[in-house]
Amino acid sequence: MNYDEALHWLYELQFFGMKLGLENTLALLKELDNPYKKLQVIHVAGTNGKGSVCAFVSSVLKEAGYRVGTYTSPHLLEYGERISINGYPMKRSDFVRSVERIKPIIEKLANLREPKKCTFFETSTAIALDHFARKKVDFAVLEVGMGGRLDSTNIVDPLACAITNIGFEHTQHLGRTLKKIAGEKAGIIKKGRPVVSGVRKTVPAKVIEWKAKEMKAPLTLAHDVVKVEVHSHDIFGISLSLKSRSYDITEVRIRLAGRHQVDNLAVAVALIEELGKADFEISEDVIKSGLEKARWNGRLQVCQHSPTVIVDCTHNPLGAKTLRAMLDDELAGRDIVGVVGMVKDKDHLGFFTALEDRFSNLFVTSPEYDRGVAPEDLAVVLKDDSYELVDYVAMAIERAVRVAKKKDIILVTGSLFTASDGLEHLAQRKIRQIFRILKKSYPIGAFPGKEVGDNETTLKKLDRNPFNVLIGTILSQRTRDENTYVASQRLFAKYSTPEELANADLKVVEELIKPAGFYKNKAQMIIAASRALVDNHDSKVPDELDDLLALPGVGRKTANCVLVYGYKIPAMPVDTHVHRISNLWGLVNTMTADETEDELVRIIPKKYWIDINRLMVRHGQVVCKSTGPRCLVCQIADFCNYGIYQNRRLD
Ligand code: SF4
Repeated sequence: MNYDEALHWLYELQFFGMKLGLENTLALLKELDNPYKKLQVIHVAGTNGKGSVCAFVSSVLKEAGYRVGTYTSPHLLEYGERISINGYPMKRSDFVRSVERIKPIIEKLANLREPKKCTFFETSTAIALDHFARKKVDFAVLEVGMGGRLDSTNIVDPLACAITNIGFEHTQHLGRTLKKIAGEKAGIIKKGRPVVSGVRKTVPAKVIEWKAKEMKAPLTLAHDVVKVEVHSHDIFGISLSLKSRSYDITEVRIRLAGRHQVDNLAVAVALIEELGKADFEISEDVIKSGLEKARWNGRLQVCQHSPTVIVDCTHNPLGAKTLRAMLDDELAGRDIVGVVGMVKDKDHLGFFTALEDRFSNLFVTSPEYDRGVAPEDLAVVLKDDSYELVDYVAMAIERAVRVAKKKDIILVTGSLFTASDGLEHLAQRKIRQIFRILKKSYPIGAFPGKEVGDNETTLKKLDRNPFNVLIGTILSQRTRDENTYVASQRLFAKYSTPEELANADLKVVEELIKPAGFYKNKAQMIIAASRALVDNHDSKVPDELDDLLALPGVGRKTANCVLVYGYKIPAMPVDTHVHRISNLWGLVNTMTADETEDELVRIIPKKYWIDINRLMVRHGQVVCKSTGPRCLVCQIADFCNYGIYQNRRLD
């Protein structure tokens, strides 16, 4: 089974619809040896803000040195985002293995005399819990999918739980009054386990109080125990100080924008305090840096400047009111060009009532999702008819870019699916724009001696036959270009073919390549690779990635260098520069260079591979240095996630 097949199989479970109740999840997890019983869980429910609270708590625990699994839903760009460990999405290979394990169990349950047909969300929850247990996380932070009492995550007995706030949502399932909705959410409160509440409205707050009393669960009201003083705020985040029962932390700069994040932060800090009582001591310094590092993509995310585009996944009236307050607060006097697409079964009128008159121009669109509302159907709730209908989010963004004036802000919102389409389109746009700018900044030959990365200088000077590239790249590992060049020249002067090197004396090779460093190891690798070429490939260097990777001592980067520089076959030889910069730009969120390569070849059109790689390496050498990026003078800071935040300015 490959990744696409595994994902397709999982999505097909959506045909079983949405089911409330724990029976299926319990049956499924029993077959997986009850992984949730091995986990220390923090469980978070609420109408809005659940994801932010999970992001704060996970970031602080990670900062404290713990391995933290976080389960949230839905995802923005990639399914693996739902199931992350220490901020990195579940790897595709792990996901495939997980589906291969779970699929026969789901089929077995569906064929019982009393069939249990597991849904997409129940199966996702099982995949997450199984993955976290296998990876031995120290904590699992779980966001409730819908409601609480009957949500499939509610099989856990958590260390602590939280309810962020209560508003109208999913009323057909959770009830038509705030009291009923609160009753469902309070269903996550477990006997004797601490519960933190951020709920301020009287009626739902009372419901939570009653439930906590009934379950003998110590209740903490976040806004009573965590006092936050806001010093300044803007679209990039908030500067604040906070005081709680155990902590007094000053000058915290959080990256989540909007004043409502203060309430989410208070819930998160109160939760961490509860963990402190349970003997997981976490220092103030750790909390401060954890809160500062927390990120939650797709929430008031400034994606690029020139023009400024903000992506936000607000989709219900309560969220829309919060968003409106934020726009009036942080972007007063700025015209907002709206790109709005929504899905069915949402309160479209409630959403636009809060926001419609704030848009100077409005493009009504639809996300590419089967529950997306057609633009003309969505527009019926609008009071003003000066909107424009555009079929796709990408097209609507392009229209908005065309009409936006220099100081205008483009806001893409209305649904997580709209945000997702927007982010995907903006990433492609970003790649093209960055490519154009960097090509002008670094024309070929502009930096003699620093042409392209680790071994490119050497390879340019050497004869670029695939064998020389292969050996030159092995020599270039963990050394400077000049050293590689000297070592290569000395080696090739004596041995220039695979046969000669396969039969060479190890000591002689070691002596010749000494200037490249790690010479003992490299000499063995070079001789072994040459022997493999002679024995298995008629003394020729293969031109297939898999064959290259099968050679001793040849990793992804070396293999790709051979393809690109030896055979001129497009590939993406991701080195440390490319890996680091791709993450800073926000193109990927990956832990290793190999994972970065997998992602980049997926999102960057093949025709750009060689050039963009060359330009990234050069940008890493000249401006975005690993010793300290020079964001203030960087020509692409307007498109770099890190640069946008570092420079914190609007046009
Ligand atoms: S803005 Fe800063 S981090 Fe981003 S690419 Fe430029 S130098 Fe690197």
